[in-house]
Amino acid sequence: MLSSDQKTVFKGVYKMSILKTENLKKYYGKEPNVVRALDGVSLEIEEGEFVAVVGTSGSGKSTLLNMIGGLDVPSEGKVIIAGKDLSGMDDDRLTIFRRRRIGFVFQNYNLIPILNVYENIVLPVSLDGEKPDVTYLKKITSLLGLEERLTEMPNNLSGGQQQRVAIARALASKPAIILADEPTGNLDSKTSQDVLGLIKMTSRQFHQTVVMITHNEEIAQLADRTIRIEDGKIRESRWLSLIHISE
Ligand code: ADP
Ligand code: MG
Repeated sequence: MLSSDQKTVFKGVYKMSILKTENLKKYYGKEPNVVRALDGVSLEIEEGEFVAVVGTSGSGKSTLLNMIGGLDVPSEGKVIIAGKDLSGMDDDRLTIFRRRRIGFVFQNYNLIPILNVYENIVLPVSLDGEKPDVTYLKKITSLLGLEERLTEMPNNLSGGQQQRVAIARALASKPAIILADEPTGNLDSKTSQDVLGLIKMTSRQFHQTVVMITHNEEIAQLADRTIRIEDGKIRESRWLSLIHISE
């Protein structure tokens, strides 16, 4: 764990804040039965950081990720991604912003079964009417060991392989941030380590910011920072890595 002085130095050498939340709240229901799923979360994440969000079941992790990803609307507070305030966007703009600037990786992979591996990977880019960056895609698929599988259908792949396709898809649009909710939740421990290693390696390679939820403490230790959520509040933010200092 770093001292607060070291943390200041650490933060000082970062290039830019890519994500900021300000006093973010999400309440469900009405008094006296109101559920404070998120209860005043303010955090800042810098470009290229790999952050693990940890906490027990029901602590508010998925709610936080859904707010950051613009999949749900906060009761109060702000989400700012790459300088853009999500609360100022209507549904259409938010949908486009999400597709271009946010990469999602879910526990259930969420691949489209009728599209092959390559079509799944380029889907966010083609939905945007853009041409895929072929050189970049080659790099991604080769790093993830998918070059030989591009024409296969998702159902013919193992869970670990499907998640690698989902990671490639998340990277494909070069998003501002990748959000992953329990990406290894359905994988055995060996495959989890492999997939996590790949997320970390690709995020380093492309200086890609990743915010990942996990309840697996071992996996959380691979991140640059862990943020612990309890009862909808941040209880601890712990830096594990000084990797960015050398930049
Ligand atoms: P985690 O991902 O850490 O397990 P969640 O963010 O899913 O936790 O949930 C946080 C709290 O908010 C829990 O108490 C959960 O029951 C509640 N919650 C989440 N979504 C809803 C909803 N749509 N309606 C009511 N309560 C919800
Ligand atoms: Mg959850």
